[in-house]
Amino acid sequence: MDDERARSDHRFRDKGWRLWDFAQEIFVRCPRCGGRAAVFVHPDHREEGRSAVLRLIAPHRLSCLGCGHTASWAPRTGPGGSPTYLPRLSGPDDPFFGLPLWLQRPCCGGRILWAYNTAHVDVLEQYVAARLRERHSWTGSGSLLEHLPAWMKSAGNRDDVLRALRALRADA
Ligand SMILES: [Zn+2]
Repeated sequence: MDDERARSDHRFRDKGWRLWDFAQEIFVRCPRCGGRAAVFVHPDHREEGRSAVLRLIAPHRLSCLGCGHTASWAPRTGPGGSPTYLPRLSGPDDPFFGLPLWLQRPCCGGRILWAYNTAHVDVLEQYVAARLRERHSWTGSGSLLEHLPAWMKSAGNRDDVLRALRALRADA
């Protein structure tokens, strides 16, 4: 292990990421062929996709390169045409179509470790591997990492969680 790697394993700085930073492309299980499909802001609505909040209510598209299956998602709207429901970013199902995330694995006895995509796995892995975790100076209602469940942050689970994260990366 080189010095650079050793340092990054030791110390991790929370940059204040939110889950929506990783929601631009969400890998899900294709409802038709069971392969890996992707959920993203519909290409016709790229402009809305630039803001994290607008992105949540922008029309989304499901696309599977394996079998060609596609589907569309649009927010439910009230009488005035404004969205009545804000998707809640969470897992282990995707927030738009409710499909199982592609990247999920059982971990630590009955828990489920999940991620939206490889960049999300990377940040979780760096965080869990770090011996010293520095908080972001201001994270408002809390960063993605501050909201992680206690079992993922526990030193006692570090090896199990890292093993599962590495397996997730291999699945991607
Ligand atoms: Zn498919």
